[in-house]
Amino acid sequence: MDDCLFCKIIKGDIPSARVFENDDVFAFRDINPQAPVHILIVPKKHVANVLEGADAGIMDGVMRAAAQIAREQGLAENGFRLITNCGRDGAQSVNHLHFHLLGGRQLSETMA
Ligand code: AMP
Repeated sequence: MDDCLFCKIIKGDIPSARVFENDDVFAFRDINPQAPVHILIVPKKHVANVLEGADAGIMDGVMRAAAQIAREQGLAENGFRLITNCGRDGAQSVNHLHFHLLGGRQLSETMA
């Protein structure tokens, strides 16, 4: 997608603080972190959100990447949150499926 911010980041046309990459998944630090660790985990193939859906292999890769990154970032012992926003009410601002990995402090018990 030519006009997609995250596609441009994945291609390297826009700089990012990359923390993980393989054939299917790219992960980088959120520019506006909401926690000491705030990483965006993104399938390289453009999919708008969970309603559009990514194939099972890609979603498995995203979840495996999330677990690996969480361990590498030192979040395994105390835990973390992994969330995706979808659409207007979900406050999705970038229409390329992504998961927020948040941790490094005690997170709020409320989700909204
Ligand atoms: P969402 O609101 O769930 O669509 O999440 C989009 C996230 O992308 C927000 O947390 C933004 O802070 C983040 N973001 C926007 N532009 C950039 C960028 N250039 N580099 C890293 N993160 C970004």
